[in-house]
Amino acid sequence: MTPNLTDAKTEAAAFVSPAAAALIAEESAHAAHNYHPLEVVVASGDGAWVTDVAGRRYLDCLAAYSAVNFGHSNPVLLDAARTQLGRITLTSRAFYNDQLGPFVTALAKLAGKDMVLPMNTGAEAVESGIKVARAWGYRVKGVAPDLANIIVAAGNFHGRTTTIISFSDDESARADFGPFTPGFRTVPYGDAAALEAAIDENTVAVLLEPIQGEAGIVVPPASYLPAVREITKRLGVLFIADEIQSGLGRTGSTFACDLVGVVPDLYLLGKALGGGIVPVSAVVGNTDVLGVLHPGEHGSTFGGNPLAAAVGLAVVNLLATGDYQQRATELGARLHAGLSALIGHGVIAVRGVGLWAGIDIDPSLAPGRVVCEALLGRGLLAKDTHGSTIRLAPPIVVSVEDVDWAVEQLRLVLADLAAAK
Ligand SMILES: *Cc1c(COP(=O)(O)O)cnc(C)c1O
Repeated sequence: MTPNLTDAKTEAAAFVSPAAAALIAEESAHAAHNYHPLEVVVASGDGAWVTDVAGRRYLDCLAAYSAVNFGHSNPVLLDAARTQLGRITLTSRAFYNDQLGPFVTALAKLAGKDMVLPMNTGAEAVESGIKVARAWGYRVKGVAPDLANIIVAAGNFHGRTTTIISFSDDESARADFGPFTPGFRTVPYGDAAALEAAIDENTVAVLLEPIQGEAGIVVPPASYLPAVREITKRLGVLFIADEIQSGLGRTGSTFACDLVGVVPDLYLLGKALGGGIVPVSAVVGNTDVLGVLHPGEHGSTFGGNPLAAAVGLAVVNLLATGDYQQRATELGARLHAGLSALIGHGVIAVRGVGLWAGIDIDPSLAPGRVVCEALLGRGLLAKDTHGSTIRLAPPIVVSVEDVDWAVEQLRLVLADLAAAK
């Protein structure tokens, strides 16, 4: 039987066991409704796969927005966490701890920089980068008090704080959350000339995602980031790369900037830096920029805590071998080859690099959400964005067979939807 569009939804819904339904109802009753989850209740995970409360397995092709790059329950990372749990987890930075030094040393080395500002969430890394850039502007560049501006790109996603949403152009992220923080200028993404034209003597930084994740895995022209690097260097402006989602192996390189040979002044890191275990984020740069911060000017109770540092160090050690980056390159090529073959068969376009794909579904076929519900029914977890786009970003530990299987599930879902039209 060929399911029609409603059947595809019913099919997915049919997998909601009574136990799952009760948990969904409980969460919906008492957790704020700031998300609209797909109807699957995950109970455990191993590698690229998760298991729901009814024992059904799903290939996780979201990987917590790339926070789980190294797989669920990664044994090396769990081991580092368990060892540290048994020693000490939180000291605050009022004192030194024996994990932070090794972590920041290794992370700085991985990034080719000499200083790390440890924080917790991605949004905090972005906020910290903004504060550092402003302080640098006033103290080093000589911008007059309170006049600093930062150039950002249309379609950006940098997090959810009031300052960060001040320069978002996603209305649902902003509506009713004003007044907004001034000091940001938005230019089209991928247009270096527009970016240069927006820079003036008060510009302290350009803040960009090297590949825009939430926008739908938007890869800029190859010349863009090198041009931004040249312009910012020439005009005395910091280049801040938000690699919170694009960094740490996802694209087949340590940083997405590496793909085009660009070294920004500051890297913003998060998500995978915590190994899927604890929130760990960081601003990474050189002393001439990060060194503007003095004691008392910025901080975080949890930033740089020994548990986070132990896990973060284990993550950096995984990346230092280059194995994950190579795996993402090889499996990514296979994923993209498979997905490209679906163009014209329900897929309009595929973007991305490495194990990171944004797939525009023919909107006349079904909204992205319906495609994701049908994929869920087939045992594949994916997330829609901006209506008709779905993204695939499985953990880098995913197998070749799993990659092929994921593409095949999408092919079958699209064929079912087309047959039901
Ligand atoms: C997820 C994300 C953030 C925010 O990270 P949180 O940990 O959710 O605060 C910032 N920038 C980019 C590019 C992201 O993908």
